[in-house]
Amino acid sequence: MGASPVLADVDPDTGCLTADELRAVVSSRTRAVIVVHLACTAAELDDIVAVTGQEGLALIEDCSQAHGTRWAGRAVGTFGAIGVFSLGAAKSLAAGEAGAAITDSRDLYERMLMLRADSRGYTEDAPGSGEYELVEHGTVMGANYCMSELTAGLLLDQLPRLDDQHTLREQRAKEIEAGLPDIPGLAPIPVPAPVDRRAVYEYGIRVRPGAFGPATVDQVAAALTAELGTRVYPPRDPLHRSVLLRPQTKPRFAQWWSEAAERATGRAFTGADHYRDHTLLMHHSVLLGERGDTEDILTALDKVRAHADQLAAHPEPKGLA
Ligand SMILES: *Cc1c(COP(=O)(O)O)cnc(C)c1O
Repeated sequence: MGASPVLADVDPDTGCLTADELRAVVSSRTRAVIVVHLACTAAELDDIVAVTGQEGLALIEDCSQAHGTRWAGRAVGTFGAIGVFSLGAAKSLAAGEAGAAITDSRDLYERMLMLRADSRGYTEDAPGSGEYELVEHGTVMGANYCMSELTAGLLLDQLPRLDDQHTLREQRAKEIEAGLPDIPGLAPIPVPAPVDRRAVYEYGIRVRPGAFGPATVDQVAAALTAELGTRVYPPRDPLHRSVLLRPQTKPRFAQWWSEAAERATGRAFTGADHYRDHTLLMHHSVLLGERGDTEDILTALDKVRAHADQLAAHPEPKGLA
């Protein structure tokens, strides 16, 4: 659509966009802001909405990791012009591959309908038997991104269980958080005070620099994975150095990106780099089990940390891995 993405840095403890980082990159050319509610927390929405309101920018909330998170009683995804939700295989509402977008704007709704259904929208009334429910509006040229009824059926079946799963995951998260102060150098990911319901997608633990001696977060994650038999991992590489952001590999973007790349990524992203290197993540399904599971997690953290202490005292050439 001719828009150039400009990356903003994030809070080093939460990985979420902040109002300060947003202000640092907003220019007279900025039109819209995408904020991600990451892992097991939410971006500071009040501050961000204040900036987008002041600057007259459209806010798009990426709630792909926060289905059901509430901010002061209101669902995230309803603070911006559009809220988007991935319903991919790993998400807390999972349909293999799927997604949803919500808005309270009639215009944006109609436009998104056409974008996802080959320029078609719905009929005014329910279609008659055997009749087509899509009518050709054609004011915006779209493509076919429609969710199939089979996929919708899978999601509808999960929906009634989601609230109870959130409650259980939050309880398990609190159990881990109750044990973390006993393990030096570890802390929970901060959650803004207005969040009155947290939806955990990936449960995250902050690692103070040096908490595991010389071991990197990747080595610590590998050791925890071996202890627990379930995957513990650091965050994916931040976008400014992710191999997935490669517009120049597409002929139609190559020339444009050679000019836009400097504006998009040409600065330091110390918050994102810190988050990547000092966070341990676990998939939300780990928090759907028994109380004993959280004790196993705390025991494994303690064991790996104690081992790192020993290594720091008596370094071996092989290191922690
Ligand atoms: C999973 C995810 C996406 C991508 O979702 P798809 O359904 O694979 O397109 C986008 N944003 C965030 C924050 C995600 O977690």
